[in-house]
Amino acid sequence: MIETDADRPVLVAGAGPTGMTTALALHARGVPVTIVEAESEDRDRSGSRAIYVHGTTLRTLERIHPGLGMDLVEEGLVWPTRRTCWRGKEVFSRTYDNPGGSGDVPHFSSIPQVRTEAYMREALDAAGIDIHWDAAVETVETSPDGVRVETADGRTWDVPYLVGADGGGSTVRNEIGANFDGDQSENSFIIADVDEVDEDPLPLERLFHYDDPSVGGRNVLLVPFTGGWRLDVQCIEGDDPEELCSDEQMREFVTAVMGERYADNVSWVSSYKFLQVMADTFVDEHRRVLLVGEAAHLLAPFGARGMNSGIADADEAASAIAAAYRARVDAVARDEVELYAARREKAAEYNLAAAGQALEYLQGENPATVLRKEAAASLADHFEVAGEYLDDAPYGPHGSPPIVTTGNY
Ligand SMILES: Cc1cc2nc3c(=O)[nH]c(=O)nc-3n(C[C@H](O)[C@H](O)[C@H](O)COP(=O)(O)OP(=O)(O)OC[C@H]3O[C@@H](n4cnc5c(N)ncnc54)[C@H](O)[C@@H]3O)c2cc1C
Repeated sequence: MIETDADRPVLVAGAGPTGMTTALALHARGVPVTIVEAESEDRDRSGSRAIYVHGTTLRTLERIHPGLGMDLVEEGLVWPTRRTCWRGKEVFSRTYDNPGGSGDVPHFSSIPQVRTEAYMREALDAAGIDIHWDAAVETVETSPDGVRVETADGRTWDVPYLVGADGGGSTVRNEIGANFDGDQSENSFIIADVDEVDEDPLPLERLFHYDDPSVGGRNVLLVPFTGGWRLDVQCIEGDDPEELCSDEQMREFVTAVMGERYADNVSWVSSYKFLQVMADTFVDEHRRVLLVGEAAHLLAPFGARGMNSGIADADEAASAIAAAYRARVDAVARDEVELYAARREKAAEYNLAAAGQALEYLQGENPATVLRKEAAASLADHFEVAGEYLDDAPYGPHGSPPIVTTGNY
């Protein structure tokens, strides 16, 4: 009888959204799993971050843990209006009667990442999956038979598979010798969360304002989520991002864009330069370690591909491991993991290109893009399609990554 890996739990490093999803997706496939997390249980996960949860992500979560996707739908919101202004003047506005569509699951749900993570924690509890807190992965040693992992709580784990879901600074990625490769955005972006007001709230609309004169000619994006708003201000030449994040400056921005009644409601602010990078391999040489989410790739947030693609990685990694875990032939197990890498590396390349297109558009360094924007703005009064282009372009292309073939005929 050939031995298989069955019954030794798989280890997931990191209890962010992709790590928790990986664990739930493994559990759903009957594979025992445990999570090790560097931080303490009482940690503060601030900032709304991944507010835009795509319909496909909601469906994935609903499939691997019935009820989880619908929790995000029920608590999240679907904004009905998209609106765009150009230098103080409206150039596009559209309101949908049924903005979520008529399927069981809406096209998207807008909810702060901290709430998504809270629902994932509840799902882990219900599934009986443990998180070992204060247990950062420190070393990873892989062999054809499995993985030995040492964690900061003094434990050593001998496991058949390790999933590195330990975020952008991934120790797992470093330990398997994979490297990040890519670029950083030129501009900085100020990102703030603003709590909702009780009286006279703004209408629920996603607003993009090009060169908004009320904030010194900077680009502004405003997006509602349950309980608040996300305000993004794009820095221009000469800006000191730290200075723009000051309380006084944020009060001014918020008052100008949202009105005086929101001025004291900034609950979080930070400045970013966005990285556009991916690991040169998503698996180790022995096909026992799989990287998912930000451990594998970092994307600029325009088009909301970060957490959404991390959750797709997580589901596909779990599917590959579930098949490999029960395989009786090593070559078959290796093949499953390699197929994971082929699929998700291709997906990351696609997502990087899409987010990069949005970033390039927003940074406005390409003269052809600048010309196209100016032309669209001057035509928007006469042709709706010109306004629609201005409304759509900041988020990059809509498509999803292609399905990778195995080369089989
Ligand atoms: C401003 C902003 C806006 C964003 N907007 C969107 C959006 O609208 N839509 C979208 O899809 N995405 C968005 N994102 C991206 C999204 O927040 C991330 O993609 C998501 O958090 C990545 O999840 P993750 O689980 O891969 O990594 P993380 O959330 O970083 O989780 C990694 C986990 O691993 C733990 N860890 C670290 N090192 C170790 C170790 N050695 N051992 C064990 N554990 C470890 C960390 O403590 C953490 O808990 C946004 C991000 C930012 C910053």
